[in-house]
Amino acid sequence: MRTICGIPASPGIAIGPVFQYQRSQLSIEPRRVEDPDAEWHRLQVAIEKAREQLLAICASVKESGQEYTAIFQAQALMLEDPELLTAVRMAIGEQRLNAEAALAKVAEQYAEMLATLEDEYLRARAADVRDVKDRVLRILLGVEDAPARALHIPSVIVARDLTPSDTALLDKSLVLGFCTVEGGPTSHTAILARGLGLPAVVGAGPQVLDVPNGTTVILDGTQGMLLTEPDRETLEAYRSRQSAYAAFLCTAKEAAHLPAITRDGHRVEVVANIGNVEGARTALEAGAEGVGLLRTEFLYLERDHLPDEEEQYQAYRAIVEVFGDRPVILRTLDIGGDKDLPYLSLPRELNPFLGLRAVRLCLAYPDLFRPQLRAALRAAVAGNLKIMFPMIATVGEVRLAKAILEECRAELQAEGKPVPDRVDVGIMVEIPAAAVMADHLAAEVDFFSIGTNDLSQYTMAADRTNASVAHLASAFHPAVLRLVRDVIYAAHAQGKWVGLCGELAGEPLAIPILLGLGLDEFSMNPSAIPVAKHIIRSLTWEETREIARVALELESADAVQEWVRTQIPEVAKF
Ligand code: PEP
Ligand code: MG
Repeated sequence: MRTICGIPASPGIAIGPVFQYQRSQLSIEPRRVEDPDAEWHRLQVAIEKAREQLLAICASVKESGQEYTAIFQAQALMLEDPELLTAVRMAIGEQRLNAEAALAKVAEQYAEMLATLEDEYLRARAADVRDVKDRVLRILLGVEDAPARALHIPSVIVARDLTPSDTALLDKSLVLGFCTVEGGPTSHTAILARGLGLPAVVGAGPQVLDVPNGTTVILDGTQGMLLTEPDRETLEAYRSRQSAYAAFLCTAKEAAHLPAITRDGHRVEVVANIGNVEGARTALEAGAEGVGLLRTEFLYLERDHLPDEEEQYQAYRAIVEVFGDRPVILRTLDIGGDKDLPYLSLPRELNPFLGLRAVRLCLAYPDLFRPQLRAALRAAVAGNLKIMFPMIATVGEVRLAKAILEECRAELQAEGKPVPDRVDVGIMVEIPAAAVMADHLAAEVDFFSIGTNDLSQYTMAADRTNASVAHLASAFHPAVLRLVRDVIYAAHAQGKWVGLCGELAGEPLAIPILLGLGLDEFSMNPSAIPVAKHIIRSLTWEETREIARVALELESADAVQEWVRTQIPEVAKF
């Protein structure tokens, strides 16, 4: 038996034979063409076919969740990229290259350029450019997508990295889980696996490619391990863990629509982080009591131009309507940092995470901000919408943002458009300065939502996208947890409620601590909701207060997690 360790990317256990997913290499022969116009036309036809294929995939995967569809929509947009197309056209026209060679050359250069960028989001797009290029090349060459067809029995899929197109072609009823050489917790494979509810381990290194096809393996997506040729004892142990987990998930899902109340009667809200209307539906089905974080930037990222007010209004209204009376917290645009909008052509920054990001950008460019605020106010008429500003550092920023919001409301009223009398306004507390000044900020808002993803990176001075400092950027560090405690204390002192929408809210080991600190609302990935509610119901508020008190006195993130594990061993299983 061999144990290969990787990064846990999607929880659960899979047991079965390995299926090595290897794509056939496309061989491209450069040729001189006599009629460049005809060659360009041949490419146009192939691109059109590729677009049709991508839109068909989009339609068929829509029910699998938000990011899943967004990936293919973004790929379809790449087929229209004017920069890329102009360069290919020049390679055909001026160098007289055949369409295959011209596209392969230009797209590869483009992908290589993206792969060297600092920005993680753009770096990840390199894989998409290659995926789209290969799709068009296969059409031009008349090559079929063979690897997926060779999958006949339920298997654990092992691959270097899986592109979205690879996963779309796989028969999901035959996929037990994924294990990839490359990728991190936010790679496509990880996102897709979570969307499909299948276990996944990513970043497991090249040795996984040496495991022969058909070898029996155990894939442990919770611990991040691949065990090859397990002995009987290990197999038995994992089989019983697997069925216990399946039974537990089933029970947790059955009770996912009930409220989250501790054994001693303390109720908290469990809501979802979403990006669009498909995500809203998935969240509602998963038991979400509302939306704690609507990341509106997806609407801006999936395209090549700014969405106008009307388009945003329609999108927000559709989401608000899914939730009826339940709250939907719309976070205004959080662009900058690792999320760039190339079509805005903003100046490059040396430290984008410390730069003109989120509300700073919106306050600097009110023309970007106003249509979103107007759209949000209009959509608020359709349900229970609240507005939240991200990356607030000072009281002045909140006042300014609220003043612009009020101007937008007055404008809409003057235009005779319906707007609600009142919309709750909150801020994300994700900058240490805001956490420290929470008493002053609380006076300005109706609620806080703590963004521990950013609060950890800024508190620990450790880039959240840099794997080499990932151990430092942990939200379990007492330095971060003490800030969380202080924020909750300051808000409660003024009768304001506090949510948390960083990844920490859905972490089984963090839930007892956050409950004990008095957090009012837990906002998380919809797939984490059933388990989170189950954990909350299994605890007493009384015991979590003591767990939290001790945790905050410990010296490290590891010590905090170990402490919770020893106090409530059951939560470590999830
Ligand atoms: C956070 O920072 O914790 C957060 C929820 O926002 P995002 O991950 O979108 O930056
Ligand atoms: Mg953030």
